[in-house]
Amino acid sequence: MKDNYGREIDYLRISITDRCNLRCRYCMPDGIDLIPIKDILTYEEILETAEAAASLGIRTIKITGGEPLVRRGCPGLIRALKQISGIDTVTLTTNGVYLKDYLGELLDAGLDAVNVSLDTCDPQKFHEITGFDRLPAVMEGISAAIEAGIRTKINTVLIRGFNEDGWKELTLLAKDRPLDVRFIEMMPIGEGRAYAVVSNEEMQSRIEESFGKGTPETGRHGYGPAVYIRLQGFQGCIGFISAIHQKFCASCNRIRLTSEGRLKGCLCYGSSDDLRKILRSGRTDRAELLKNAIADSIRNKPEAHCFENMEAVRDAEQHRMIAIGG
Ligand code: SAM
Ligand code: SF4
Repeated sequence: MKDNYGREIDYLRISITDRCNLRCRYCMPDGIDLIPIKDILTYEEILETAEAAASLGIRTIKITGGEPLVRRGCPGLIRALKQISGIDTVTLTTNGVYLKDYLGELLDAGLDAVNVSLDTCDPQKFHEITGFDRLPAVMEGISAAIEAGIRTKINTVLIRGFNEDGWKELTLLAKDRPLDVRFIEMMPIGEGRAYAVVSNEEMQSRIEESFGKGTPETGRHGYGPAVYIRLQGFQGCIGFISAIHQKFCASCNRIRLTSEGRLKGCLCYGSSDDLRKILRSGRTDRAELLKNAIADSIRNKPEAHCFENMEAVRDAEQHRMIAIGG
């Protein structure tokens, strides 16, 4: 369905856990409070919500977290989501550590595409960013996914003066394989507030200085706001998700369900609708109530984010990315 600004909302991100096996410094540093398990939506509750959302025109679902593959039964959830009438596409965002282990089950469940978050190709830097020496497992996961033929993308967040110097190695991952590499500007959410953004405009200039001017890609690469270029001699494309420096809100097509059942119209604001309350109300007309709440949320989706001026916003999002799902 359309929101009040005429945007067709057909994409739902679902965070299935706030737990993670890594501790990326800008996302989930050590020692933060986790959501009590009883407050996290069960798979049945997620499916009930997805069915109501599908009846309103949601067609694509992205499973995220926390790390979705640390929650037992994630492939089974994907299988069940794929069976919902109206849902065409289910994709996954993962840190890649368990990707190889679960790939067979994920493919069997019907997963359509996978995004792997990777901020460096340097093992020591990987440890500094994530707190663990799991780069080889992530690289194996990426290779296994490509070999299996599933659409695979890398998501990279660069931090000024920390891992920004690794952009060339990250770009080169797209050279000899059909793998898109996307640079995502750091957003001032949770721990991300403490880090300086590397603008994608700057990244694109550096990349084109080294590899030659890219050709803009107009074909569809996914369901989101990334802008892509193709570099000569590269099999994959380079994408830019410029949340801070190029507002893409006019074409935003998504809503977000947090792991505790809050439905958010925009990443930037704290406002949300409490679907868990409806899901646990015991009411027999829950399906209708859910549908109405989701429709309200879509209608009232904010016109645009305000990341460029978060201090001025009274209702800025205070939760961490780990609780929202990115
Ligand atoms: N664990 C999975 C992963 O790492 O892909 C899924 C959840 S993670 C929260 C989803 C994405 O959000 C990751 O690509 C991560 O780099 C990104 N992310 C986390 N905090 C961010 C921030 N402040 N700004 C931009 N991206 C962020
Ligand atoms: Fe975990 Fe993903 Fe956050 Fe890293 S970015 S701490 S892998 S949820």
